[in-house]
Amino acid sequence: MADCLFCSIAAGDIPADIVLSNDHVIAFRDIAPQAPVHVLVIPKEHHANVGELANQAPQTAAHVLQAAKEVAEAQGIGDGYRLVFNTGADAGQTVFHVHAHVLGKRDLTWPPG
Ligand code: AMP
Repeated sequence: MADCLFCSIAAGDIPADIVLSNDHVIAFRDIAPQAPVHVLVIPKEHHANVGELANQAPQTAAHVLQAAKEVAEAQGIGDGYRLVFNTGADAGQTVFHVHAHVLGKRDLTWPPG
């Protein structure tokens, strides 16, 4: 999709610190990490948010979740990590290409701030 930052990263047009890539998804380190491990998992195809992804491409949603698990295990946080899908501007979503935040390697408090 034109003018989508994460489509440009998925296409390789904008560099990122990629930790996993397969036919369906890529995962890269967040540029402003909120935890020692903070990786974003995105589908290569464009969907605005996780609700649209689930409706439009449920199999791709499963690929995102599987990749998040793989990333967590590869980053040494398989025993405890947080997955966050900010959905909509009111929830703090700033990039409207669905992405799972994989967060860990520190105490994660609840409720989230
Ligand atoms: P959200 O606020 O849930 O939409 O999350 C968007 C995330 O993308 C934020 O945590 C940003 O720090 C991150 N981000 C923005 N630009 C980049 C980039 N070029 N490379 C990696 N992460 C980015």
